[in-house]
Amino acid sequence: MTAPPELLTPTSPAEAAAAFGDGAGVTVLAGGTILLPELTYGKLRPTRVLMVGRAGMSGVEASNDVVRIGAATPVGELAGAPDPLVTAAKHVADREIRAVGTIGGNLCATAGDSAPRGDLQAPLLALGARITSAGAGGETTEDITAFLERGTGRLVLSIEVPTGQAFGYSRLDRPHTHHYTMLAVTAVKGADGVRVAASGVGDRSRRLAGVESALAGGASAADAAARANEGLDLPTDALASAWYREQMLPLLVQRALGQLG
Ligand SMILES: Cc1cc2nc3c(=O)[nH]c(=O)nc-3n(C[C@H](O)[C@H](O)[C@H](O)COP(=O)(O)OP(=O)(O)OC[C@H]3O[C@@H](n4cnc5c(N)ncnc54)[C@H](O)[C@@H]3O)c2cc1C
Repeated sequence: MTAPPELLTPTSPAEAAAAFGDGAGVTVLAGGTILLPELTYGKLRPTRVLMVGRAGMSGVEASNDVVRIGAATPVGELAGAPDPLVTAAKHVADREIRAVGTIGGNLCATAGDSAPRGDLQAPLLALGARITSAGAGGETTEDITAFLERGTGRLVLSIEVPTGQAFGYSRLDRPHTHHYTMLAVTAVKGADGVRVAASGVGDRSRRLAGVESALAGGASAADAAARANEGLDLPTDALASAWYREQMLPLLVQRALGQLG
């Protein structure tokens, strides 16, 4: 019989970072909506589990032009964060899952076998969020694009999101008890131009480089949207085929850009 994992239960962010160390052999458990089934069915057999639920890592605080969100804040408690993050959060799963699943877990989620996950990554990418994490080399704060490109291996402590930016958001839902979003697009007009990101387009959400560079070059929304699929390897899952996503993504981009004004 396999020995049960050692449970680490920090009571502050500093204790959590110390317990995480360089992350070797540590599995982070937040709301557990993804991890618990994997543990229950033996897909994952960790030796040490770091539970962040009581580490004082939740809450939404606004100061000046930035909102700071603790990584263990439940998806259902993001009121006070900037849109379209709040709107996208309302479409994650159902009330029960949103009460337990956290923004940190969503940020670190990869797509499931049958449906996308990590729906909040796209609004965070478009909003230009900055991620503070602990791990090898100590605490760092970096742009979310760099954080997601590096992949897992760090403990997310908090997420900072700038406020006051114009945005557009459009999505395709599939009627389902648990309310999955098959594809969603967020566009945000920042000081450095328009950032456009999509969820449901692969393992994680992605910025749409073709669209962004077309807009930077002065293209119309329609012409920029026509480049939505550039560089993507769209998935087929239980919600939609890659072909359907390829047809729909440019339309969603055009709708989101149309809301920017
Ligand atoms: C029925 C159902 C419907 C769902 N529908 C949706 C949906 O519509 N959209 C969607 O996006 N997701 C959906 N999900 C997936 C999931 O509920 C959410 O993505 C949720 O936000 C995950 O958060 P969690 O805290 O439960 O993550 P956990 O299960 O605790 O962890 C998920 C992953 O993130 C890592 N992790 C968690 N917190 C941290 C941290 N602070 N630092 C580093 N790593 C961390 C864990 O190690 C693990 O790898 C659904 C799940 C279920 C069961």
